[in-house]
Amino acid sequence: MTTSTSTAQELDHELSALDTASIIHPHTVIGSPSNPVVFVKGEGARLWDAAGNEYIDGTCGLWQCPVGHGRRELAEVAYNQMSTLEFYSSFGDYSNEPSIRLAQKLLDIAPASIEKVFFTNGGSEGNETAVKLARLAWHHAGQPDRTVILARTGGYHGMGGASLAATGIDRLRAGYGPLIPGIEWLSKPHGLAHGENATDILIDELEDRIAEIGADRIAAFIGEPILGVGGMVPPPEGYWPRVQEVLRKHGILFIADEIVTAFGRTGEWFASTYYGVEPDIIVTAKGISSGYLPMGAVLIGRRVLDIADGALFLHGFTYNGHPVASAVALKNIEIIEQEGLMARGLGIGRRLLEGLKPLEQLPIVAEVRGVGTLIGIEFATGDTASVQAGARANGVIVRASGNTIVMSPPLVISEADVDRIIAVVTEQVEAAGA
Ligand code: PLP
Repeated sequence: MTTSTSTAQELDHELSALDTASIIHPHTVIGSPSNPVVFVKGEGARLWDAAGNEYIDGTCGLWQCPVGHGRRELAEVAYNQMSTLEFYSSFGDYSNEPSIRLAQKLLDIAPASIEKVFFTNGGSEGNETAVKLARLAWHHAGQPDRTVILARTGGYHGMGGASLAATGIDRLRAGYGPLIPGIEWLSKPHGLAHGENATDILIDELEDRIAEIGADRIAAFIGEPILGVGGMVPPPEGYWPRVQEVLRKHGILFIADEIVTAFGRTGEWFASTYYGVEPDIIVTAKGISSGYLPMGAVLIGRRVLDIADGALFLHGFTYNGHPVASAVALKNIEIIEQEGLMARGLGIGRRLLEGLKPLEQLPIVAEVRGVGTLIGIEFATGDTASVQAGARANGVIVRASGNTIVMSPPLVISEADVDRIIAVVTEQVEAAGA
């Protein structure tokens, strides 16, 4: 026992030292690496690190794993596909069966307006694709001045050229300029900030901005149905149908970034369905494959196809429609379906939200909110980073995103683990407010 514990700790120290000596991690200070938690195993909503510590995954990593960790069925599908055809390019007139089957499945579950699929390897690539496609479509249709992308403060769309330019979080943009031009800004759609008439205020602003810029210069609007990195912010009541109405009136394409919200988080396959809208383009990633392999898909609606009809789309990534990732994604979607995980997630989310709601009594907490399994605790004052660190030290992983603690557990998490998240987070938030 003593030997195995010390061996685990030795391995943990060794890996940690090698990591800090060799890897630059996303979102860290260059030259100042911190000792990482080195995960070695995952199962369901549980994770284990190299030192043998156990954690409840309250965030699903970076929102990517609705079906939970360590599922053999997905490993078997990957093994079988890799043994048959590991990869071949999908450029031009090459294709493969898993990506064809996955596309069919996506079209079955997507809102009715969606008719085609363009595959990617992740979220940022998806948003790059959406922006390029929207601009190309108008260019092709003889409206080359229609290039502006309307984006929202607080929105997060990724780390590429267009996807970062459309990200409305200052600290993520700083130092990388000049970013691509042609992005125009709308306010963060946050009910707390805008008060009772939030939707009217935001829709008036949208109309005003379109009038100022000129609809004939605007290619598309991009938005996350529920802001993720921006603090798990659901929109105010009635916001999305009214946004859609304004965009349609002015002929502006509607891009929904559903990289976080799709594949069951709201109890529907897509948050667009939850909010009753039919975007022209829906960008997905993460939950499409539960992160077992990198994968994303841009779902494209009839209107875009009509405008872009006949345009040569010189765009693509080497691993578009990767057969192994596609086979895994298809199986992942089948698991969500067969195990009834979307309905299960609704129950889990309700339990988590109700369990954390009493924290609103604390002066440091501005709001506890959520839709489905996307839950946030916004701080009015105080330090969210200490809650993230304190919870982790107590075996629960949650994420401090700005002034909000965000949670989005796997849809397979047990009720006992949800209750443990509630207990640990409550303790940490109380301590932060003491
Ligand atoms: N869009 C949203 C809403 C996201 O949350 C993310 C990542 O968290 C992205 C885009 C970027 O996705 P990726 O990191 O896979 O490039």
